[in-house]
Amino acid sequence: MGKTKYIFATGGVASSLGKGILSSSLARLLLSRGYSVTIQKLDPYINIDPGTLNPYEHGECYVTEDGAETDLDLGHYERFTNEPTSQANNVTTGRVYQSVIEKERRGDYLGETVQVIPHITDELKRRILLIAKTHHYDFIITEIGGTVGDIEGLPFIEAIRQLRLELGKNALCIHLAYVPFLAAAGELKTKPAQHSVKMLLEQGIQPEIIVCRTEHKLTDSSRAKIALFCNVDKSCVMESLDARSIYEVPLLMQQEGLDVQVLKKFGIKYQQHPSDLKRWTEFVDRMYHPKHSVNIGLVGKYVELKDAYKSISEAFVHAGTVLNCKVNIKWIHSETITPKNVASLLDGLSGVLVAPGFGTRGVEGKITAINYVRTHNIPFLGICLGMQCGVIEFARNVLHLKDANSTEMVANPKHPVIDFMENQKNIDKKGGTMRLGAYPCTLKTDSLAYKIYKKKDISERHRHRYEFNNAYLPAFEKAGMVASGINSVSNLVEVMEIPKHPFFVGVQYHPEYKSTVVNPHPLFVAFVQATLSKEKHK
Ligand code: GLN
Repeated sequence: MGKTKYIFATGGVASSLGKGILSSSLARLLLSRGYSVTIQKLDPYINIDPGTLNPYEHGECYVTEDGAETDLDLGHYERFTNEPTSQANNVTTGRVYQSVIEKERRGDYLGETVQVIPHITDELKRRILLIAKTHHYDFIITEIGGTVGDIEGLPFIEAIRQLRLELGKNALCIHLAYVPFLAAAGELKTKPAQHSVKMLLEQGIQPEIIVCRTEHKLTDSSRAKIALFCNVDKSCVMESLDARSIYEVPLLMQQEGLDVQVLKKFGIKYQQHPSDLKRWTEFVDRMYHPKHSVNIGLVGKYVELKDAYKSISEAFVHAGTVLNCKVNIKWIHSETITPKNVASLLDGLSGVLVAPGFGTRGVEGKITAINYVRTHNIPFLGICLGMQCGVIEFARNVLHLKDANSTEMVANPKHPVIDFMENQKNIDKKGGTMRLGAYPCTLKTDSLAYKIYKKKDISERHRHRYEFNNAYLPAFEKAGMVASGINSVSNLVEVMEIPKHPFFVGVQYHPEYKSTVVNPHPLFVAFVQATLSKEKHK
């Protein structure tokens, strides 16, 4: 298709309008016409990456294959496109300033005064263009975090203004704006959206397409008004209504003509690339018409904010859909679980997932929940800290090592069954202490894990510091909890399971990051399947 086309997505009026879902949906529509697409997110905050952000602040921290700790929108990109992203797909103000300051210290600017314009904007432009340097994409969608008018977003807008000038016909801007419904007046109000476009215009950007996020259908007169006052064609004013599921959004946006208008704007003969959304439509249809349902408990300490476990809840949607099953998640706050209330809290559940996490808060509640599901044959999936809690529970109650703990929870426990392993240092990519990104794992062929993955060699993404302490492995295996997956390079335990239990699997890695609509994760599928069998035998 020739030169890469750049699409910039901005947001106006309010945050949380779903720019990430809109960008992902457009990517899906273009992919379904056979084009290659990737999506990049620019985040205006000063953190280098969201790794240090509290999930309450920013939702889940998503981890890519190359070990980048990124914004949760990258998870949506992967789930919608089925293409891996990387560090280059997430740029923050912090990272941009860091590299400019490093260059300044190295003397690269040779006596110049280093300024937001041109130095910060040049670095932003360089990073936007960088993705196409290593791989050819027909389209690169760049989502600009934040809302138009935010002070911290100004350098981003200026960078894309300049890029639009340089790229000419190979760039366009889609602006997503909120159109509220005023109940007292009984009508949709377009003025805030108009104002947000005015603000973009003041900063030198005329959007080519305006997508109106509304809770009510956009009337013809609202469309006409926005088109006239915002200087765009009426066919380029589109509505984005609340959908029952994010996975329906590509289909709704196709009805609005989003992909066709984008292709037309770039002068691409799109008729030669008809859209094939058959699989996607089937998925949505199946998801909306489940034949079964199961109740699964998700035990975590950030349950007040569902976004903190975004990839896990989406992985359940993918897995459930494969099995024609609606997965109802019961969110259980780990801090509230006690040996007294655990039976009533987990009552009626066909399975329990114990979530990842950092720090001591809620850990004892997680251990109590695991004790209950282990002794009551309820399917269990433990992810990262969830797996570690499973190990601690088994050590305390089966191996009778009463003081078993993780060195993350207490300094020098008598039985550090989870510990910081020296050999981990050898494989640490970032130089820090965290094991991040994709690592290989070898599964034992007589294990449940092998049955699930149907292969011996797998690769999964990590984000943790502590590991199973191999010194205790013989005792565990003798008592019935076996290490069925090992990172053989460094001899680190990746999967623990209890063969005598109907489904008890703890994984040190994060399978949820790799679950997509096209490729639901086998571990989640097997877990939901196990909960379905449990339901039938109730
Ligand atoms: N806090 C644990 C560790 O660092 C688990 C991390 C996680 O659950 N992602 O090892």
